[in-house]
Amino acid sequence: MTDDPLDTDAAFSLLADETRVRILEELGAATASPETGIPRLSYADLKSRVDVRDSGRFNYHLTKLVGNYVAKEDEGYRLRWPGLVLYRTLVAGHLTDEAEPAVDRFAVGTDCHRCGDSLEAHSYETLFRIRCRACDATYTDVYVPTHGLVDRDRSGILAAVHRRSRTILDSMVSGQCPWCARDVTPEIHEHDGSLPSLHDARDLDPYAVYHCTDCTGFQYVPVSRCLLYHPATVAFYHDHGLDLTEIPAWELPWAVTDDATTVLASDPWRFRVRIELEDEAFVAELNDELEVVDTTRELIDDISV
Ligand SMILES: [Zn+2]
Ligand SMILES: [Zn+2]
Repeated sequence: MTDDPLDTDAAFSLLADETRVRILEELGAATASPETGIPRLSYADLKSRVDVRDSGRFNYHLTKLVGNYVAKEDEGYRLRWPGLVLYRTLVAGHLTDEAEPAVDRFAVGTDCHRCGDSLEAHSYETLFRIRCRACDATYTDVYVPTHGLVDRDRSGILAAVHRRSRTILDSMVSGQCPWCARDVTPEIHEHDGSLPSLHDARDLDPYAVYHCTDCTGFQYVPVSRCLLYHPATVAFYHDHGLDLTEIPAWELPWAVTDDATTVLASDPWRFRVRIELEDEAFVAELNDELEVVDTTRELIDDISV
């Protein structure tokens, strides 16, 4: 065992042995109980939970874990933080057969903002997509741990996908990779045919890419999408009796298309986004780092008068 976080051989070899995984699972399950705090399990208690008769084998594998993942203290054994993170990864379903959930394709109940056909939800590997099969527009494409999808009805699945999407994009837009916590900055791309997938932002011109070059985390989004997380937009919705944080992005045309976005300049980039609610418009200007540099509100003229 080593304390070097980049010793990936040691980290992966941990999971190559069933007894070690069982020890992590039992310490994790004890910690995940409704009791607060991180419990210590005595040697005898832990050995009995793991259910290994061979003391020599149990001791050998326990010793391998003690250090970075498991702490040995007077009161017993407990998970250290890296051990907790590993246990959470196991629970999320990343490393097991649960990585292929059985979520059948189903209609979301929202029409495509481009062609009017009905949007569908489906999962692919651990990516969950909200897209239009008729015109191929994709409105949400986000990684959701399998554990968040099982035993939920369709509305529960959509709520989980919405919350997950909001958490990940909020982090990216604020400048931090949601997976490894390194800094990320957006890059603005013009529609140049170089997208890695046909489904990513293919109809947007331009679009933003948040890409963590340390851990591979990435998202392709309309430039206007950053406004979903800005306090001025949240306040605008709040003033109209709506909680923006509760509305899935795929129900907001301004957030998932470039229809509400005007390109003011391209060197450096500057954008204006206009969002209308009832009799009022919220207008925000974004710079090349997608920072909100100006916001205004204006009443919409009633042209019928
Ligand atoms: Zn469509
Ligand atoms: Zn990262």
